[in-house]
Amino acid sequence: MGKRLIVQKYGGSSVANVERIQNVAKRVVGYKKKGNDLVVVVSALGDTTDELIELASQINSEPSEREMDMLLSTGEQISVALLAMAIHKLGFEAISFTGAQVGIITDTTHTRARVIKINTQKIRKELAKGKIVIVAGFQGVALNHDITTLGRGGSDLTAVALAKELKADLCEIYTDVPGIYTADPRIEPKAKKIDIITYDEMLIMASLGAQVMQARSIEVAKKFNVLIHVRSSFSDKPGTMITKEGKKMEGVLVRGVTLNKSEVKIAIYAVPDRPGIAATIFNQLAKMGVSVDMIVQNVSHFRQTDISFTVNKADAPKALRLTRKVASEIKAGEVVEDQDIARISIVGVGMKSHPGVAAAMFESLARNKINIEMISTSDISISCIIKKKFAEAAVKALHEKFGLAK
Ligand code: ASP
Ligand code: MG
Repeated sequence: MGKRLIVQKYGGSSVANVERIQNVAKRVVGYKKKGNDLVVVVSALGDTTDELIELASQINSEPSEREMDMLLSTGEQISVALLAMAIHKLGFEAISFTGAQVGIITDTTHTRARVIKINTQKIRKELAKGKIVIVAGFQGVALNHDITTLGRGGSDLTAVALAKELKADLCEIYTDVPGIYTADPRIEPKAKKIDIITYDEMLIMASLGAQVMQARSIEVAKKFNVLIHVRSSFSDKPGTMITKEGKKMEGVLVRGVTLNKSEVKIAIYAVPDRPGIAATIFNQLAKMGVSVDMIVQNVSHFRQTDISFTVNKADAPKALRLTRKVASEIKAGEVVEDQDIARISIVGVGMKSHPGVAAAMFESLARNKINIEMISTSDISISCIIKKKFAEAAVKALHEKFGLAK
């Protein structure tokens, strides 16, 4: 095999303490010894980011987003320097950089900035000198020189964007689990590691609660066809490859089952049934930055209907306030919130070419006496809203139904 350029990203848990940093250094050096060029992206040590957020909240409950970026970006600056030192100790050359130093240019949307462009000259120059290049994840710099961050879990995005820009042969995402699973192994012990998954499946699984990779990083990987390998930094076993869809991948009907308990249902009763009402409600929510997930409108009776939708728990208070306001404006009835819901979903590109998957899912839930409150589908996923207390049973039932333990 010729010389390969590999981008590796190590998550916070992989560099949580001195021993783990040394372990990462050994792994990186192992790849270097095989003649590869390496660019290593690192997250902040352990729970540093959460701790910094907590610290800020003790000072100011509504801290300025610019200052939050100044604060949070320090986490990754610590880890890159320590990893470089650990690699030096092993007798290899390494150099660390902040996002600003390597030239990860973003817009000015503090705390969730978008990458506009990446200058790779500096990285290439150091690689050419034989050095291992270590880049602080999760951060960039705006054109006005302000430091920005790329949203929680943003180191994944740093890695994917660098892999794309450097035309890397592979992008490895190291984490504390062996890969992506057919279901959460804490709920379904029979869950199996998935060897290969498509970008689209992974995107849905990520957004539905399989929190292994930042969703935005998968969007970017898909757009630029960056091959990703998600794997554990505590083992040498292969993990899960995330790749584009191929003929072979459609053979699997359901790739995985996911559960999301962080949504809330809001229902508006007695909504006047006339054109433009739904638009009014959801426009208002969109304007305030509340993204709505599932929507169900009941059949109308006497020119009135009920509309229910789900939003993320974090957005619920705002959504509820806005919906009550709109409901009174349009002369609708009561607005109620239901926190006792869970979203159970099945995901698989094979569904596109196989009818009857939804029916099989509903049947399995029915056989387990689990009532479905809402349904939504895409071409590669089906989600049902059920009562929270049935969530775990539903995961197991569907895992079994679609033969995922085999
Ligand atoms: N340290 C940041 C976070 O915890 C970025 C990352 O871990 O990817 O969100
Ligand atoms: Mg982190």
